[in-house]
Amino acid sequence: MDEGVTVCDVLVVGAGPGGGNAALQCSRQGLSTILIEDHPEIGTPVHCGECISEIACQNLNLTLPEEVISKRVHGIRVIFPDGTKKCLTEEGYVLEKHLFERWIADEAVSAGAKLHLSHKLLSMERVEGDSFEGWICEGKGDQFPIQAKIVIDASGVAAVCSRLVKPDGDSPLNTRGKVVAGMQYELLDVPTDDYLDFYIWPKYAEKGYLWMIPKCDGRANVGLVTEDKPRTKKALDEFISDTHFSDLEQALPPWKEKGSPAFGGTIPISGPFDRTHYDGLMLVGDAAGFTSPLFEGGSHLALKSAVFAASTAAKAISKGDLSSAGLSEYTRLWKAEFPPYGKILRGKTALFELSDDEMSVMATCFPDEMSDMGASGKAMVGLRLLMRRPGLYFKRIVPAMLAFGYSRAKYYGW
Ligand SMILES: Cc1cc2nc3c(=O)[nH]c(=O)nc-3n(C[C@H](O)[C@H](O)[C@H](O)COP(=O)(O)OP(=O)(O)OC[C@H]3O[C@@H](n4cnc5c(N)ncnc54)[C@H](O)[C@@H]3O)c2cc1C
Repeated sequence: MDEGVTVCDVLVVGAGPGGGNAALQCSRQGLSTILIEDHPEIGTPVHCGECISEIACQNLNLTLPEEVISKRVHGIRVIFPDGTKKCLTEEGYVLEKHLFERWIADEAVSAGAKLHLSHKLLSMERVEGDSFEGWICEGKGDQFPIQAKIVIDASGVAAVCSRLVKPDGDSPLNTRGKVVAGMQYELLDVPTDDYLDFYIWPKYAEKGYLWMIPKCDGRANVGLVTEDKPRTKKALDEFISDTHFSDLEQALPPWKEKGSPAFGGTIPISGPFDRTHYDGLMLVGDAAGFTSPLFEGGSHLALKSAVFAASTAAKAISKGDLSSAGLSEYTRLWKAEFPPYGKILRGKTALFELSDDEMSVMATCFPDEMSDMGASGKAMVGLRLLMRRPGLYFKRIVPAMLAFGYSRAKYYGW
């Protein structure tokens, strides 16, 4: 081994929810683990609406400490273009997301992981012996070069390893998919009954939606995701000035000392990448394209994919097989667990092919509570549609309806 090379079993790239949990789970399995994060601190700038469901926490065995919880909420209320409101009631939390990510990373460090901030992965070279032996990683930060048997890419939408690794020496492991822009403001004194308000109002958010996500002390994230990227800020400003949010004060979020009050980021929307594992490499969270198609939530998927990556890493290292075939269990695990992306996407597409008026008519046919419609509930919606607007029934309303069903927490919607 060359002097000056930092050696570990697993290098986790990126300390968001996916990376923090991957480092935690790997350390708990006894693997020597390094977690690197490009930024000088974890979790900021926040690029998230900050909500996570209780079902997600149970699924992940997470007992959230009080200091990371901003507010307990009762679920999602979907507001259609004519103002019709329908609920998907299921308990959950709005987090102080940067504190949540720091907590997970702290847990990883307590379990034995080494955390290095201001460390950015810039290149990866294969280490070959009789067989594939790992990666030598170079980058910005004094711990580089780092040699790891397995790299877990949790770099979010940057998907850095998909770009750096070129299996045939020329083309990248995965080509970059489509992304949508998300932006929000923190507003003060926002009225709430502790539901997340999601507005499906294409006039402001093309093929996306707007939200009011309540936090403690009257604070709330008010924002949107839209496919019309150049108009993101203008559309959000217009939405705020056209609605009951217009008189409310905008504030800098607590983690931000100066600059524009707007904050946000981008979200991958092309679905899971073709290759989520390779020799000594697994992609988790946004870096693998794991987001929920309709409401674009990704934290639950990132945290769970990290669990699968860590268990696969532990098995592969103990067997001494770091090859792509040795890590294929990872892809098998997430495919067996996560909901069918293509099917939900077809529902989302069907939804956005409806005019505002058609969407509102469809909504009036839904029961007030959509969280557990069941077969008879869905049949009732079909019947109402046939009576009110028979033409609509044949406009792929059923897949659009399914997209709402799949946005529930048990399907990794949030
Ligand atoms: C506006 C907006 C609102 C959202 N709201 C919600 C919501 O309410 N609920 C929800 O579940 N999801 C929401 N999401 C999606 C959610 O934020 C992501 O799905 C989730 O954060 C993905 O986690 P991750 O760990 O995969 O990636 P990230 O959280 O993006 O973390 C990746 C980390 O990797 C680091 N990194 C990148 N490149 C490198 C490199 N080369 N070297 C080292 N480190 C690197 C980054 O700095 C970052 O810290 C929202 C997204 C946006 C943009």
